[in-house]
Amino acid sequence: MIRKEFLCFILIFSLLASEAGAWGFFAHQRINRLAVFCLPPGMLPFFKHHIVYLTENAVNPDRRRYAVKGEAPRHFIDIDVYGDSALWKMPRRWNDAVAKYSEDTLMEYGIVPWEVNRMKYVLQRAFETKNVNAILRTAADLGHYIADSNVPLHTTQNYNGQMTGQKGIHGFWESRLPELFSEDYDFFVGQAEYEKRVLDRAWRGVIEAHSALDSVLKFEKQLDARFSPDRKYGYEQRGNVTTQVYSREYSSAYHEMLGNQVERRMRASIREVADLWYTAWVDAGQPDLTALLDYRFSEKEQQEMEEERKQWQKKTIEVRTEESAQINLEEFLYGVCCNHSEKGHCSK
Ligand SMILES: [Zn+2]
Repeated sequence: MIRKEFLCFILIFSLLASEAGAWGFFAHQRINRLAVFCLPPGMLPFFKHHIVYLTENAVNPDRRRYAVKGEAPRHFIDIDVYGDSALWKMPRRWNDAVAKYSEDTLMEYGIVPWEVNRMKYVLQRAFETKNVNAILRTAADLGHYIADSNVPLHTTQNYNGQMTGQKGIHGFWESRLPELFSEDYDFFVGQAEYEKRVLDRAWRGVIEAHSALDSVLKFEKQLDARFSPDRKYGYEQRGNVTTQVYSREYSSAYHEMLGNQVERRMRASIREVADLWYTAWVDAGQPDLTALLDYRFSEKEQQEMEEERKQWQKKTIEVRTEESAQINLEEFLYGVCCNHSEKGHCSK
């Protein structure tokens, strides 16, 4: 158990300010928010009307991963566990993959592409029944899983550089870099288009992300050899806590080496979110969403959401550790510093 007064050694950090947060909170929220503006006129007014909800709840799947059984594997797929050329050998369809590797194995090493595909159908059903609560919840969740599937470090067993002496790289790439540099990204990704092959599209995100993994790890390794620790890390004040972060100089050098990689993955995520929201709506028969514009969450629904959030904070489930950095941020926001066993996330 790590004591509260220890400084958080969070290799992620953004958060804090306003809506920022750990494909980290910050990037997840940005991706869902920007996807709204890619939607066609039949969807745009409704989604714009609820843009605050879709943004704020973009991180619900991370919030509940410590409290909901079966949640954690939905965020990643350790494709390299399956050996050489696994990306090409892995059956695309769930039943075929289960037949080849067993469900237990798939659950252990992550199921994100299948979850993206499944959630598209859940969203379609929500549109068909015109259930506003379900539409919003599912759209926000689907956006999250799509964004995760586009992150290179969500496609490997070396998810936090722990196998290559690069611990902390997960949050560095997916939170620190977007936080520092995404203001200059070009997020104009065009209008949403119908996706005929949803499962293949989900796999495309994983394939592109995994193809970028080599550079993610290699460039950071090269850079580490050129920087002394005191230049590699710096400290930033977060509220009342001093947090150790990758220095701006180091972050900037890494970002430059990666070219537009982080921007490309964010752009791909935004477009995929918009395309699959749109596809679910089309496949549901393009229900008239203007009729739902006046919908307000009832008091009961609001209470249920509140209660659910409380349940998620209980964190009764052990999950792999790179994600815990994200939770640190939430704990930080609520004034509680690190409370998990992984060394390296916290230090004196
Ligand atoms: Zn996630």
